[in-house]
Amino acid sequence: MEERDVVVVGAGIAGCSLASGVGEAGHDVLVVDAKPHFIPKVCSGLISVRIDSLISYPKKAIMNRIKGAKFFAGGEVSLELKRSSTQAYVMDRAVLDAYVIEETSRSCDVEFGWRLVNVERKNGFAVCILRKGDSIRKVKAKVVVGADGALSRVRRLLGVGKKLKILSAALAYVKDEMASDIVEIYYDGELAPGFFAWRIPRNDGIVEYGLGCEKGKAVKMLEKFCARFEHKLDRNEIKAGFIPLGLIDRSVDDNVILVGDAASQVKPFSGGGVIYSLICAKIGSEAIIRALQSGDYSKEFFSRNYENVWKKKIGTKIQVGMMIRKLFDSLSNDEVGELLKMIDENKELFLKVADMDFLGDDTL
Ligand SMILES: Cc1cc2nc3c(=O)[nH]c(=O)nc-3n(C[C@H](O)[C@H](O)[C@H](O)COP(=O)(O)OP(=O)(O)OC[C@H]3O[C@@H](n4cnc5c(N)ncnc54)[C@H](O)[C@@H]3O)c2cc1C
Repeated sequence: MEERDVVVVGAGIAGCSLASGVGEAGHDVLVVDAKPHFIPKVCSGLISVRIDSLISYPKKAIMNRIKGAKFFAGGEVSLELKRSSTQAYVMDRAVLDAYVIEETSRSCDVEFGWRLVNVERKNGFAVCILRKGDSIRKVKAKVVVGADGALSRVRRLLGVGKKLKILSAALAYVKDEMASDIVEIYYDGELAPGFFAWRIPRNDGIVEYGLGCEKGKAVKMLEKFCARFEHKLDRNEIKAGFIPLGLIDRSVDDNVILVGDAASQVKPFSGGGVIYSLICAKIGSEAIIRALQSGDYSKEFFSRNYENVWKKKIGTKIQVGMMIRKLFDSLSNDEVGELLKMIDENKELFLKVADMDFLGDDTL
């Protein structure tokens, strides 16, 4: 049987970042992805400037620079928060993801077309059962990383994460005009129940229209949202995906860890997952390197060296984010408007403490 130190399931930004860390330390890492070939992630690519201290990437991935946001409650503008400096980039995920995969391939084997169907634990190892068409491949590994996204199969096989909320989200690019350094966030309980709609200026006169909601109707709701701005979308132009929300009950087991969307390492208030995924991928790769050195692949080891460490960094932030999310969900459009106006009256204080990653300065 094929044997590897580590099998990473999912060649997204979380899986690749973790794999690179372990591969660069000289270990034998296989990254597999169910997609037939490289396809960039469906994502707005609105990523805080904190990314500069987490990974390298080609500067051409930056399509636009954002200084703030305008918040609307039921269609009416209630709050604008803006700083003088760039807070976030609008990044081209096709460029970013292609670069991340290329970098990962330098120290790891990255193979597309292989879907993980099962993980069996035997004699202190994990055996991954992978399928490509009619071919079945078994790979024995010391550690398996579930980096397989919001609907993670590895997470389901572990029987964890049952209380997570999985939102559906959709986006489309439209030729349109808006301020170039501000994103727009629309809270509207009817249009986007459980989340919000957005407009993000990209480059060359293109605006991204997007929407996330509970109960799986994001594509339909996005069409409604665009109709408000007199845009009719062709269904083929709409791209859809899923966003997990909430603090996962457990992200480790014997020989297995989860990372990225699979572990719901996502900001519940914005749905942004890139920064948290990168932070946790680094913690995960360090834990796996230590495990490979010590020969301890137990759930207890990964609890101590991975789960407790990442939850200490962002666990409370995810819980607080969920509380704010729930508060917004319980309010009518008018009440959200009132809340936004209250923030507006204390804008200076809010701008002092607010941080789009909820991290503060001491976290990295
Ligand atoms: C519409 C939308 C907009 C978003 N906008 C933003 C944003 O502006 N800013 C931000 O920070 N975040 C955003 N996010 C979230 C962000 O994209 C993710 O949090 C981030 O990319 C982390 O991804 P990941 O690597 O964990 O998972 P993914 O990128 O989903 O990668 C998982 C990979 O696993 C593979 N896979 C799945 N199952 C299997 C299997 N059984 N076997 C093998 N491979 C498998 C998939 O093919 C996929 O390539 C957005 C998400 C959506 C849906």
